Order: sequence, then structure tokens, then C-alpha cells
Amino acid sequence: MILKRIENVLSQPYGQGAQKKVVIGAADGAPTFVMRIFDVIPGGASSDHSHDFEHEVLILKGQATLKSDGPDRLVTEGTAIFIPANERHQLVNSGKDTLRFMCCVPLRGEDSSGVAPSGSC
Ligand SMILES: [Zn+2]
Repeated sequence: MILKRIENVLSQPYGQGAQKKVVIGAADGAPTFVMRIFDVIPGGASSDHSHDFEHEVLILKGQATLKSDGPDRLVTEGTAIFIPANERHQLVNSGKDTLRFMCCVPLRGEDSSGVAPSGSC
């Protein structure tokens, strides 16, 4: 069993004004899932994309505008989002504070070096 404090996990730049932490992944011996945390500055965003694996997202802090092929939706702290495979998605920090969300993906959605293949989250 492994316990970590997320403040001790290194961040890497991601997207437009975003930082990503791979909290639990292949480097920890996880065989199936990867847990990532994203911090996004106001006005910043994750990439606008789709891919052939799902996301399970939980908004931990702040608010975001969730963009997809449907209407934009406002999501706030405590909202969980299931994004099926191949569905377009982007989270834009539309608030005044840092947006923090957790995003879990299958292992193939994140390579073992911790660097996302193009299109991950
Ligand atoms: Zn994605």
C-alpha cells in the first residue's frame, strides 16, 4: 500500500495555464488506473479533444465551464463527471480562483513516464 500527500507530488506543465500531477500510476505499480490532479489558473483550460478511453473527473476546487459537443455546462466543487470514450471535452477555468480537479484514466491514457500522450485530459 502506498500513501502520498498530493502537495509532495511534482507538477508538470499541461495545457493552457494548467499543471498536472500524476498522483498514482504505473510508477507506483498500479496495473489498471491512473489518478491525476490538475490545477488550472483562471482563464486557463485543459485541451479541447477526444480519445478512445474514458475520464472520471471530480471537481475539487473552483469552477469550470465544461465544453463538449452539447451546450456549455458550469461545474463546481463536488461535481463528478463521467466522460465516455470518444466524447469531445474541455474544462475551462471560468472562475476567479484556481480550478483543481482529479481525473482518473486507464493506464493506457497515461504513459509510464508520467507524460500524457497527446490527447489525455
Ligand atoms: Zn481527455
